[in-house]
Order: sequence, then structure tokens, then C-alpha cells
Amino acid sequence: MKYSWEGPYQIKKLLEDESYLPKGNYGGVYVVTQWCWRDTPRKDKKSVILYVGKSEDSLRKRVGDLVADLHGFSDNNQGHHTGGQSLREWCQKQRPRFVSDDLWIGWVINPDCVSCTENWLFDKLCPSENGKRPPRCKEHSE
Ligand SMILES: [Zn+2]
Repeated sequence: MKYSWEGPYQIKKLLEDESYLPKGNYGGVYVVTQWCWRDTPRKDKKSVILYVGKSEDSLRKRVGDLVADLHGFSDNNQGHHTGGQSLREWCQKQRPRFVSDDLWIGWVINPDCVSCTENWLFDKLCPSENGKRPPRCKEHSE
């Protein structure tokens, strides 16, 4: 399947300039990697696929939740985003040569079906830091 990707951008870029943030009123699917990629993220040693996630209604808000938890703006019980927390732990293990803001994130805005896209990308990219597989699409799986 071919998707139209935006990014990837480094997290630090999103924090510096909000014009890089996903548009607020669209759902979408995002991929977090250690390194940059071109055109489309691939499962290879070059980009290191860490996380695949989605938002049905606001990709911008979901990425915000991820970035907040990535920077520790949560307590142990009240996180916004479990992926942000596992990515934070992952980044802490890489310190000091790699920090949270060095991560790359790219996204597909408003695909035909957010849930099917997330599933398809998850299966294709095998991200290392998703705790579990995303649920199957309720509308399109038998
Ligand atoms: Zn679907």
C-alpha cells in the first residue's frame, strides 16, 4: 500500500516551530524512528522503527500526548500515552549520545481507514517499542 507521508521531523523541530505540527482536525497514523528516512519508513537497520500509533480524530493532540510523556510530563498512574512512556525509557537507555528530542516522527494524515492503516504499518514495520499489537479494525476485518 502506498501512503502519502509528511516528515519525518525531529521532535526538537516540532517544539521549535509549530508550523511543523500535524493539522489539528484530522486523524492519522504516525511512526517514530531513531533515524531519518525518506519517502516512506522501512523496516531496515537504517531508520530503526520504534513505534507506530494512531489517532482517529486529532493526530496533533495525540502527538502532543506522546511528546508530553516522552519528556516526563506524567506520573506513574496518570500518563497520557503509554507509547510516549516506553519511548522515554528507551531514550534514557541511549543517553547521553541520543536524547528524546533526537527521535524522528512522520505521519499519514487522514488515510481511508486509520485503524487498517495502523495495522498494516504495524505488521510491515514491526516497531520494537509498542507493548502490544493494535486491535484489528472493527469495520473491515472479518
Ligand atoms: Zn478499517
